[in-house]
Amino acid sequence: MYAFQRCIAPLCRATFDVTEVMTSCPDCGSLLDIDYEWDKLPVPKSLREFEARWSNRHNPLDYSGVWRFRDLLPFAADKDIVTIGEGQTILQQNQPVGKYVGMNPGKLYLQYEGLNPSGSFKDNGMTAASTHARMVGAKMAACASTGNTSASLAIYASTAQLFRVVVFVGSGKIAYGKLSQALDYDARTLQILGDFDDALERVREVAGERGIYLCNSVNPFRLEGQKTIMYRILESLNWQVPDWIVVPGGNLGNSSAFGKAFIELKMLGLIDRIPRLAVINAAGANTLYQLYEQRGVRWDGGMSDDGTVNQFFADMDHDQRKASTLASAIEINRPVNLKKCLRALDACDGVVRQVTDQQILDAKAQVGAGGFGCEPASGASVAGAKLLRAEGVIAPSDRVVCVLTGHQLKDPDITVAYHSGNKSLFDEKLRPLGVESAEFANSPIVVENNLQKIIEVLSR
Ligand SMILES: *Cc1c(COP(=O)(O)O)cnc(C)c1O
Ligand SMILES: [Zn+2]
Repeated sequence: MYAFQRCIAPLCRATFDVTEVMTSCPDCGSLLDIDYEWDKLPVPKSLREFEARWSNRHNPLDYSGVWRFRDLLPFAADKDIVTIGEGQTILQQNQPVGKYVGMNPGKLYLQYEGLNPSGSFKDNGMTAASTHARMVGAKMAACASTGNTSASLAIYASTAQLFRVVVFVGSGKIAYGKLSQALDYDARTLQILGDFDDALERVREVAGERGIYLCNSVNPFRLEGQKTIMYRILESLNWQVPDWIVVPGGNLGNSSAFGKAFIELKMLGLIDRIPRLAVINAAGANTLYQLYEQRGVRWDGGMSDDGTVNQFFADMDHDQRKASTLASAIEINRPVNLKKCLRALDACDGVVRQVTDQQILDAKAQVGAGGFGCEPASGASVAGAKLLRAEGVIAPSDRVVCVLTGHQLKDPDITVAYHSGNKSLFDEKLRPLGVESAEFANSPIVVENNLQKIIEVLSR
């Protein structure tokens, strides 16, 4: 095998076999990457070579939107790959949302990852982590989750029947769509009396103690699968590179994976330039924004300013500041992939912005009205693109791809609270997080059970 694990810290760079199970460098504690001896691998000469797989859809590996690109994440033998047909997602040029964002006609695209089997982009990563779990013969896998990671891990475990699963959820605002998936897919579910960051800390400890396979995005194999979201975007654009990728930022696994994808494609000569990356925080969970835009923390060749980062977290603890946003999938205090995301921002000339829950829900309503529904966190990418357009950072003529990370049905409570026009629901669910209005509400019309009255309403 020409794949190995490698510590991302420039002064360490320790390497480990892909069959070793770890989620941080045992020498220095830094994050790990999956790396490859590309010169010994059969790398395609052009991205177009992947088109040959389109005619081979009876082979599950060629059908998968992740594994048809397996030459670009070659850490597993074909026989070990666990796939449930993930990655059948679509890039759609979207006129109404483009207008809302302020783009010229034809310039705004939505990459709809809600179409994955469990309804979020997480399946791109979980197919890769499940594959690795199979390679190492794991008997039990675990994750901490704001909801979608557990839904994804649970669906892979129940389909593959290779290992049992335990998911740790916090006791905050897990969306019922997501919780219902973990329960329905028969995952053992532990509700920790704490928030997501607590649940993640505990699951890391338990996994270490008990030799349980950890599937959070500190797992570097997951990020290999998530690279393919970018390959599919390029594929949909006839292998042209867009100007911007805009993505919500939570634990920063996705943004990190996107950066790695483009760094590798450029290095392999498969693309001639790298798009710019915009990572969008919720204003109530804005660690990356604070560090990158307000305090100037940068990748700096891997030597980023840990002092500033540690001080920020010390202050956060001291002031007992806790992340708080309706976009529960990105309600995270301490993003575990911070360093890798800084690397991605460096490679992609990136920017970070924060958007309020009001902006998120308005953007989400526009995405819905434009034909793709999404969950609140995904609305952040569209709200962020709109902000960057207003600032003039994104030009109206740029080609912009907003990643819609999760399906609309994940979190129907918030959608109904926004649209229904029910004041008490609005006051209970949305107002406490600073949402004042529902500009794009599409409220149901109450009408008497009477033909004449219904006709009257319809002719208004
Ligand atoms: C997990 C998740 C995110 C955050 O992604 P990160 O890789 O943790 O930054 C955003 N949106 C949805 C729907 C998610 O499930
Ligand atoms: Zn190290």
